[in-house]
Amino acid sequence: MSEQDNNRNDVEKVENVQVEDTKKHEDEYEKVCFVCRRPESVAGKMVDLPNGISVCSDCMQKSFDAMTNGQIDLSQLMNMPGVQIVNMADMEQSIPKKQKIKKKKEGEARQPLIDIRNIPAPHKIKARLDEYVVGQEYAKKAMSVAVYNHYKRVATDTMDDIEIEKSNMLMIGPTGSGKTYLVKTLARLLDVPLAITDATSLTEAGYIGDDIESVVSKLLAAADNDVEKAEQGIIFIDEIDKIAKKKNTNQRDVSGESVQQGMLKLLEGSDVEVPVGANSKNAMVPLTTVNTKNILFICGGAFPDLEGIIKERLTKQSSIGFGADLKDRFNHDKTILEKVTTEDLRNFGMIPEFLGRLPIVFTLQGLTEEMMVKILKEPKNAILKQYQKLLALDEVKLDFDEGALLAIARKAMKKDTGARALRAIIEEFMLDIMYEIPKDDSIGRVTITKEYIEGTGGPIIMLRGQEVLRIE
Ligand code: ADP
Repeated sequence: MSEQDNNRNDVEKVENVQVEDTKKHEDEYEKVCFVCRRPESVAGKMVDLPNGISVCSDCMQKSFDAMTNGQIDLSQLMNMPGVQIVNMADMEQSIPKKQKIKKKKEGEARQPLIDIRNIPAPHKIKARLDEYVVGQEYAKKAMSVAVYNHYKRVATDTMDDIEIEKSNMLMIGPTGSGKTYLVKTLARLLDVPLAITDATSLTEAGYIGDDIESVVSKLLAAADNDVEKAEQGIIFIDEIDKIAKKKNTNQRDVSGESVQQGMLKLLEGSDVEVPVGANSKNAMVPLTTVNTKNILFICGGAFPDLEGIIKERLTKQSSIGFGADLKDRFNHDKTILEKVTTEDLRNFGMIPEFLGRLPIVFTLQGLTEEMMVKILKEPKNAILKQYQKLLALDEVKLDFDEGALLAIARKAMKKDTGARALRAIIEEFMLDIMYEIPKDDSIGRVTITKEYIEGTGGPIIMLRGQEVLRIE
């Protein structure tokens, strides 16, 4: 065989393997009827047409009936208004994979993602969280216990008299204090699917915005459209304080109280019909049923005026006569948020039924300068470590003075957006360094100084021969 033939054979082989791979992959997902959009598990066996289109037997039958009943004069079909020739090839990609549901394998038993013997104990979960999240000791502890109990409940799936309650959580903490980060870290270490949504985008069904069920759709997408996997995942709803009941309004509260009402059944656990691969139900998207009984819901929010409400309650509670004096004391109390009760949250605008379904409430502290410095250098994937690694690839050692770290933290504190400000500040300073250093091969070490951060000096550059250069 000539070399050319050999090459051609190789190419064909590779192509065949690719086709088989796609087929195998397609086999894992259910077919969806092109006409009624119901998945195979609901509509029954599908008839395969060319170009990857499938039609369920009901719809097939309906079209035959319409033709044989003689209501349509086929010879006149082309002259009818609105009738067009459809090119089947155009339809090929009409049902995207993201709208297909993963098939259940035959005879496969329901398998919890997490085995009861393998659920890490709360102290182990916390130790893992410690590697990434600085401070927030109480939140980490509360979360580890809640998650442990939740997955114990999922793994045993007991239906006896003592039903373990769901451990949905409500996290209260200022912006940038690590709420989302905690949940992300948790989902990663437990290896369960996670969906993060913003409560602000949600509205009552039928109004502009995402339907409430879309939070479950997102989880389904995160679980590769595998319903069983999604049913054991975590949903994080951020900015939950934005769906508080609107005060003094005579219009229908479609993005506030109604959303809370709509979320009740999700939080509690029930079968919900969710659109697959879309944010709202419409005729063009397939629907599937997901049971939310074992989905862990974590809600988070900054609750900006909550401190005032707590202070007011505490002041009222204290004996008459000392009121004014005490109010001042609470003004300086940094831990005031920890004293939150459901009554305060109700006053804030959360409805009692909603709060009742989030039994675990805890708070996160606002970050201090000291915590910011730690966030910069301590977590496993700390920002400084990332830069150090990048420069190490150029064989340059990067150091930060303690003073420089404190100066960065101080700048970040001023922005009032928590740890989120840190990255932006560092990126600004590192831009020049990352641009200039690779230019000069002789540089062996860079030390970022307090003066450089404060704009009064430059970094210390050391050449490979240990010579010190100070750039002014
Ligand atoms: P929010 O509380 O507003 O949800 P995030 O969790 O999104 O804040 O925090 C923003 C970023 O700040 C995170 O991606 C993380 O890198 C960092 N961060 C915030 N708090 C901490 C913390 N306690 N420990 C480590 N990193 C943190």
